[in-house]
Amino acid sequence: MSASPDSQLSSALVAAGRHFDRVVNTVNLPLTRASSVLFDTLEAAEDEGPRAAAGELHRTTYATAGTPTTFALMDALAAIEGRGHACRAAVMPSGLSAISVPLLAYCKPGDHILMSDSVYGPARTFASTMLTRYGVTTEFYDPHVGAGIEALIRPNTRIIYLESPGSYTFEIQDVPAICAVARARGVLTMIDNAWASPVMARPFDWGIDISLLPLTKYWGGHADLLMGAAVVREEHWLPLWQAIRQMGICVGGDDAFMVLRGLRTAEVRMRQHEKTALEVARWLETQPQVARVLHPALPSHPQHALFKRDFLGSSGLFSFELRQASKTQLAALCEGRRFFRIGYSWGGFESLIMPANLEGIRTVAPWNGGPLVRIHCGLESAGDLIQDLSEGLAAARFA
Ligand SMILES: *Cc1c(COP(=O)(O)O)cnc(C)c1O
Repeated sequence: MSASPDSQLSSALVAAGRHFDRVVNTVNLPLTRASSVLFDTLEAAEDEGPRAAAGELHRTTYATAGTPTTFALMDALAAIEGRGHACRAAVMPSGLSAISVPLLAYCKPGDHILMSDSVYGPARTFASTMLTRYGVTTEFYDPHVGAGIEALIRPNTRIIYLESPGSYTFEIQDVPAICAVARARGVLTMIDNAWASPVMARPFDWGIDISLLPLTKYWGGHADLLMGAAVVREEHWLPLWQAIRQMGICVGGDDAFMVLRGLRTAEVRMRQHEKTALEVARWLETQPQVARVLHPALPSHPQHALFKRDFLGSSGLFSFELRQASKTQLAALCEGRRFFRIGYSWGGFESLIMPANLEGIRTVAPWNGGPLVRIHCGLESAGDLIQDLSEGLAAARFA
């Protein structure tokens, strides 16, 4: 025996609950999850495509090009990171894709890139493998080069790629000086602004053309999503937008919504990360086993003056150099901590610890100091974090 089919069910399943006409105001925009975008007329559908392709804002024929949720995030990032400048922002599925896609978008075979020796390792790998394969050469420069970058610029130099402070080693670059030279020579400047985030730096005031933000870190802020953004001066928007559309790069509405949620509290979180990290850094400076603390907001940092001139503050991430440490001692320092857990990445609410391995990722100025440990100070209390590290240093039994 079989029940007779319900002839209306299938259509009802498709149509039910898709219309809600009453306007209800809420604090946050409704979250859009979408693939197809609908039009009421053929004319409207046909009109939208060329507008989207030409880079017009908020135009979409299909959710790979954007939805109200991703457009809201793009608007917010352009307004915040680009404050005081006419900028646009594109979002991509990770911080690393927000590095690789713009590099592909702005380069062609035969081009030359100048990249800081202190950049995030995977950016370096992308440039020296994939870009090489497409006929783009990358030359690494000393992050202390400043205006001396001029001597390295070739007729085919297309991009100067910066990161300040540098990953793991925290060198501060004279970004305004590099940007002035680049602008005069018609070279694009691109910076990875992960560490400072828009709260602690305004790269467009320094003269930067393209700022890259791993939203995974402080903008998401809760270690629960992956995303990246490229914020660009308006005149550089089209090549990037076209590359993103052609490669089908896009993010889902849920994650975009979570980044919008995270950024509301970015400033208060960042100020807390800053305060805690400085307290921990100052304490580490007094420890006999610690040779040096690499934190640009400490007066002992070699480029502290540049830092004070250019930055609005610091963040929760820094390194310290040990006088010496065996592998076993490093393990004893890092393992079994109550608050500092072992993990790559950073920028969430929690503290992390990881010895830095700079082998192969510094070619201009190889690291010749002692073992380096990077920590991210989360939102735990500074006293607890200091106690935790103190126990780690004791467990390592440094001579
Ligand atoms: C983490 C990080 C990235 C990449 O972000 P993901 O979202 O993890 O891909 C880029 N640059 C720097 C400096 C980073 O620390």
